[in-house]
Amino acid sequence: MNPMQTVDLRIDAPWIVPVEPAGVLAGHAILVDAGAIVAIVPAGVADASFAARETRVLGSHVLIPGLVNAHTHSAMALMRGIADDVPLKPWLEQHVWPCEGRFVSPEFVYDGTLLGSAEMLQGGVTCCNDMYFYPDAAARAYEDAGLRALVGMPVLDFPTPYAADADDYLAKGLAARDAFKHADRLAFALAPHAPYTVSDATWAKIVMFARQVDLPIQTHLAETRDEVASERASSGGTPLARLDRLGATGPGFIAIHAVHVDAADIAALAAQGCHVVHCPASNMKLASGIAPVGALLAAGVNVALGTDGAASNNRLDVFAEMRLASLLAKVAGDDAAAVPAAVALRMATLNGARALGMDDRIGSLVPGKQADVVAVDLSGVATQPVFDALSHLVFAAGRECVTDVWIGGVRMVADRRLTSIDQGALLARTRAWQHKLAAQQPPTR
Ligand SMILES: [Zn+2]
Repeated sequence: MNPMQTVDLRIDAPWIVPVEPAGVLAGHAILVDAGAIVAIVPAGVADASFAARETRVLGSHVLIPGLVNAHTHSAMALMRGIADDVPLKPWLEQHVWPCEGRFVSPEFVYDGTLLGSAEMLQGGVTCCNDMYFYPDAAARAYEDAGLRALVGMPVLDFPTPYAADADDYLAKGLAARDAFKHADRLAFALAPHAPYTVSDATWAKIVMFARQVDLPIQTHLAETRDEVASERASSGGTPLARLDRLGATGPGFIAIHAVHVDAADIAALAAQGCHVVHCPASNMKLASGIAPVGALLAAGVNVALGTDGAASNNRLDVFAEMRLASLLAKVAGDDAAAVPAAVALRMATLNGARALGMDDRIGSLVPGKQADVVAVDLSGVATQPVFDALSHLVFAAGRECVTDVWIGGVRMVADRRLTSIDQGALLARTRAWQHKLAAQQPPTR
């Protein structure tokens, strides 16, 4: 008989949805050692083969991989609810940019990113893709929160309190990246805001850096009809066609939104191995439109899910995005079979990890990957009875059902309590920002 293998942690639950392979495992246990998944086996096999230093038995839960929020501006959590019921252009020009111009600082970004991280952790998000000013302050907050993140280095062609011009944005972003080389839960990406806010000359520099330093590029793309119309008027083609011509597309290119992409764009995204981040709640709230998710998936494009920032959502809730992505694809495609629960969960986990270039380490529960695990309690009246735990994850449960979250085998949420963040102190700082912002904000109605 083989000797028992000793591991750090064993988690038992009635259901496990590993994403790879597809389907639901009943009565299994996850074995974790040194932060990584060692095995996922029936409980009886675990009893016979493994001795765990710590065991958690969750009697009414489904275990899933940590959710990946593939597009957000975490620090904008401090602007939650600042301007509702306005379309993208006035929302940016009359509300968000003036507020940012006045208040955004390293302190604002640190506190806002910590607030966003706390919300995401409690909602089962273990990794996010961020894009905001002062990425060094955001990286510090992610490091303190213990969240994984792809931190965007923002680039714009106009000055903000953060940087004077495109070269200054790039220099500051690369310096932030250098300062966090030690942080194994963080990676960095070039984050030009959008084709319409960044010139061809700056895009050319971004492409050069992406190739030299091997960095992904993420950008908002074809978010509104107006954006595509003005691009067609100025360059004669779509925003994607312009970026394609400038050499920006490829397997390291993350297109955020992609609401108004045409058939040629979709074919190009697929041919180049690009990734799309679908943000259904933000697109609905700003009345931007409905991304052609069915056509993108059918073409073989890797489609992930994102919340966008809390100023346009207003929640960093990937459970809500899974449900909306499925429902919206069904009604938009006149097809009740579009984006079933398993596909929505895959978009929120493995597809997100692939988009961020992290699928070798996270995105599914398989031996060898990091133990980023979320426990979702299905014992409440709103999630009973349970015929299909996978269906419940997308159509019945919500982030309020998340009780425990592990990242790299470390328990970051324990019985709904954050272990890495002092929630009382965070809420006190948030209230202080609320008073400052409220004194300056123009009314929206
Ligand atoms: Zn965004």
